[in-house]
Amino acid sequence: MILKVVKYPEPVLSQPGEPVTEFNAELRKFVDDLFETTYASQGIGLAAPQVGVSKRITVIDLSMGKNPKDKLVLINPEVIFSEGKLYEEEGCLSFPEIREKVVRAAKVRIRAQDLHGKWFEMDGGELMSRCMQHEIDHLDGMLFIFRMSALKRDLVQRKIRKLQRDGTW
Ligand SMILES: [Zn+2]
Repeated sequence: MILKVVKYPEPVLSQPGEPVTEFNAELRKFVDDLFETTYASQGIGLAAPQVGVSKRITVIDLSMGKNPKDKLVLINPEVIFSEGKLYEEEGCLSFPEIREKVVRAAKVRIRAQDLHGKWFEMDGGELMSRCMQHEIDHLDGMLFIFRMSALKRDLVQRKIRKLQRDGTW
């Protein structure tokens, strides 16, 4: 089922998600829906708060549905190590049409639970590193515009207000 992606400044996007404690069929169905919604939106990742569910669940698929092995489910994830810096353009499904450069760590190691509740660690570099940091930020109620310089954030917020006035946001 394709879920509705909420846009900034929907309050749920700024709330820290609740930890997941039950690894059941309901969770598996929700994760399937998250992937379906990601592909329908032509995204590479989606976090539960973006569909109005304040829980620490996110999915990533850099192949955008082309390679089933690339489907990554991160439950209760956290960054446990990071190094280097990357300054690249980034987008977000909750900010349609907005793309801006954001500073991120070049490499990260994350720790997360899978759909069965089993903990695992995983390293990410370049695009994967950026995507992991962006999605884990969502679970902390942190949005990419607050990683931008104050000047850029101001420009983006002005653009959003104009789109809202035009009724296209
Ligand atoms: Zn996002």
